[in-house]
This record gives sequence, structure tokens and C-alpha cells, in this order.
Amino acid sequence: MKYSSTRGNAEKLDSARAIIRGLAADGGLFVPDAMPQVDMAFIEGLQKLSYEERAAKVLGLFLTDYTADELKGCVTRAYDNGRFDTVKRAPVKAVADKSVLELWHGPTSAFKDMALQLLPQLMSTALKKTGEKDEVLILVATSGDTGKAALEGFRDVPQISIMVFYPQGGVSRIQQLQMLTQEGKNVNVTAVTGNFDDAQSGVKMIFGDKAFNEELAKKGIRLSSANSINWGRLVPQIVYYFSAYADLLSAGTIKAGEEINFTVPTGNFGDILAGFYAKCMGLPVNKLICASNANNVLTDFLRTGVYDRERDFFKTISPSMDILISSNLERLLYHMTGDTAKVAGWMKELQEQGRYDVGSELLAKIQQTFWADWTSDEDTEHCIGNLYEKTHYVADPHTAVAWSVAEKYQQATGDKHHMVVVSTASPYKFNGSVLEALGVKTEGVDEFTLLDELQARNEDKTPEGLASLRTKEIRHHGVCEPETMEDAVMAFASSKTE
Ligand SMILES: *Cc1c(COP(=O)(O)O)cnc(C)c1O
Repeated sequence: MKYSSTRGNAEKLDSARAIIRGLAADGGLFVPDAMPQVDMAFIEGLQKLSYEERAAKVLGLFLTDYTADELKGCVTRAYDNGRFDTVKRAPVKAVADKSVLELWHGPTSAFKDMALQLLPQLMSTALKKTGEKDEVLILVATSGDTGKAALEGFRDVPQISIMVFYPQGGVSRIQQLQMLTQEGKNVNVTAVTGNFDDAQSGVKMIFGDKAFNEELAKKGIRLSSANSINWGRLVPQIVYYFSAYADLLSAGTIKAGEEINFTVPTGNFGDILAGFYAKCMGLPVNKLICASNANNVLTDFLRTGVYDRERDFFKTISPSMDILISSNLERLLYHMTGDTAKVAGWMKELQEQGRYDVGSELLAKIQQTFWADWTSDEDTEHCIGNLYEKTHYVADPHTAVAWSVAEKYQQATGDKHHMVVVSTASPYKFNGSVLEALGVKTEGVDEFTLLDELQARNEDKTPEGLASLRTKEIRHHGVCEPETMEDAVMAFASSKTE
């Protein structure tokens, strides 16, 4: 299977090369040329398999240039590495009348691990397969969770180094500590004096700066991305939609072939897009419900067909969704239209005018699959409190945004399909907001006391990666402005080649 650009002006590559590149040469995103199809026998067959085996099967449909042995090695090193705290990797729990798909049992306690434990394995295998001699420098812009998950995934992986930019003051204290204490010989963490979109735009600008990339190439370094614009980041996420369905079948919650709904707390549109791929491949999915916080640019888009980023940016208690440019939407537009010229045009309008309008016909087509709503911080807190009172389930703010939107969907439509709420972070990662929602005053209380306070109210123990932050040393001190990110990259690159 080949991969081509959503904007139609770049060469077609096999998946190994697309994963090394990250972004297509014309600025578009790599998309598969065809959508693999599966039947119910395939899905039912997943029930008796481990998560690793499920992953190898699903990945094999897309990464056709990797051998079965290579994929087996990759998924084993990614998931069966002693760093997930449950053998199910992505367990499904029954909570009230819904199911919750927990994607945060990996080393950094957020759903990013599902993809970022695997991407480095896919990438280093790709470097071997293609005989690539250059060093790869991964640049990441993070709203909090991606950065740490990428650092953990890439640390000390040969031939690859990684540099992470995060918005100063735009991540939780725990997220910041997780990143600043990162160990590894090939890692750098730098704060940017701006918001997430500034950091992401900065990284995109660096990828597109020809002269800068040529200068790096002279040093034997090529840039790549671990953001969800990289196909190797997206494809691992398709797996857990299948895995969840198989587990619901095994539990007898649903019958084979029965359609279900997923509500997904959404930022960059990567997680929910993986669900869209699963549906296109034949997974029985009725609706994908896109849940946002006050940065509700996607809610408006999915209701009106107008994507308009010119709006106030809010810092919310679900910071990993504080995003105004959802990069992966470009892939959805490509798959919905098959028209690269149109997609390229919309992306140009977004860049130049800050908005684009896909028109009523395409909107209607998108709405056959997607529904959207958003939740304020206040309602998110109520949701965490109510859910705890009713079920003793402790939801993190991102999960609570989704839970609350799932309820709005059910009330608005009366739809009775079984609902899976995708849970994207451990509540311990956002302990302050969660405790406030549970009625505990947190002002002036230190992070580690908060972890203990939360543990006193939660059946799940504090994840090891968070508990151990107590004693770890701060190793990264870099700060730069959005305008000087390139200098910071060059300084790190030069330090790597000295
Ligand atoms: C990244 C993230 C999201 C948003 O996922 P996208 O793929 O960017 O839509 C939601 N919740 C948490 C906790 C995250 O880390």
C-alpha cells in the first residue's frame, strides 16, 4: 500500500518512508491510497488475541511493506515491555449505562502512550529497512501529554533524537514536571513563551523552511515529527477501536455486527480520526461524537461546515484539548472528498484568512458520521463530581468532557446504540482539577499531597511514573520565544553532532 499527500503534490511513498518523513513535501499529510476492509469474522477472531496480536493484525493491513516478523517485534517492544500497568493495555470498563475505554495505562498515564510507545519502534525499523544513514531529529509541539509520551517513547532509541516544545504556563504542574525530569541522552525539552498553537505553528514553519533543512542535512540530520500528523502516530490508534469492540463482544455487552457509538475528547482530531478509519474499514460504528471544551472550533465546524480559527483562545481544565487548529481534520476532508485540490485550497484559506467553508453538501456527508458538542469547565467539574457520587468512578477532566457530551448526545437524539466513552488520561495526571471537582480545596497544597488525597478517594493506585516524580531531578531549563525556536533547534542539533 502506498501513501500520498492530502494536497496531491508530493511523491507516493511506502509506509516506512512516510513514517520517517512525517509530513509530505507539499505540506500535506500522508494518507493511505486505499482503505483496507475487514469482515465480522476478522473482528470476532480478535477476541481471543492479546492486545499485541490484535495490533499486529490491524497494523498489517496498512503497513504492508513491513514483514509480519517486523511488526511482531515492534508491537512486542511497544506494549509488552513491562511499562503498561494492565495486560489488557486498553481495558474497557462498564460505568453506569456506558462503557469507558481507558487509554492511559501506559508509562506516562495518557492516551498518547498507545501511539508513542509504538511510533519509535516503527520508525527505527523503518530506518533499518530503508538503509537510511542520517540521524533523525524529532520535533514535537505539545499541549502537555504528547511531549512526555514522545520523550519516553524515543529516549535512547538509536539514530533518533527528540526535541519537545511546550507552551510555558500552558500545561499542568505534573505534566511540566514529567517533561523537565526526563532522562535520556538524546532528549531536549524547551518552553515556548506562547500558547500551543504558537508552538505547533513554529514547528510546522521549521519543517517547511528549506534553507534551514538543508543546513541540517549538511550535518547529517533530517527532521521528522511525532505529532499526530505522522501516519505512524495515527495508525496505532486504529487498533484500540477494534480491541474495544472485541472486548465488548466477549463481555456479551453487544452482539456481533451491532453498531456502537464512540464519544471522543478531541483536540488535534487524531484520536477520533482513528475511529473514523476503523468505521471505514468495516467496524460497526454508528456515530462518532466529537467532544470539545470551550475551545469549540470543531463543534462549530461539525455543525456549520465553517472552520474558523479566529476566536479567543481559552485555557481550560482539559488543557490537552486547548487547540484551535486541528491538523488531522485535513485527513478527514481528503477521505470525504478524494479531492486534493480542494483540500489544498481550504488549507491555504485557513493559513491566509484563518477560516474556510466546506459547503452544505460535504457538511451533510460529514454529519452522517459525526456529531459534536462541547462542555464548559464548570459542567466538566459537575460531571466529575456527579459521576463519582453515582458510580465511584474517578474521571479526569478530558474524559469528563466526553462523558458529558455523550449524555447531551443521548438526550438530544434518543439514540440507543451502546455508548463507549473514550477515556484519555489518568485522573492523577490532573489531580488538582479532579480534587476541586470532588469538593476538596487544593490551593497552596503541593502536587504530591494532592496525589495522596486523590488516592484516598480512588480504587486505582497512583501510577508509578507520577509517584516517582517526587524524587526526580529537574534536568531541562531551556526557554525560547516562538520566533527563536529555529535557533533553539540548531543549537540542540549542533550539540548532537559535536
Ligand atoms: C491529546 C489528548 C486529547 C486529544 O486527542 P487528539 O488526538 O489530539 O484529538 C484528549 N485528551 C488527552 C488527555 C490528550 O492527551
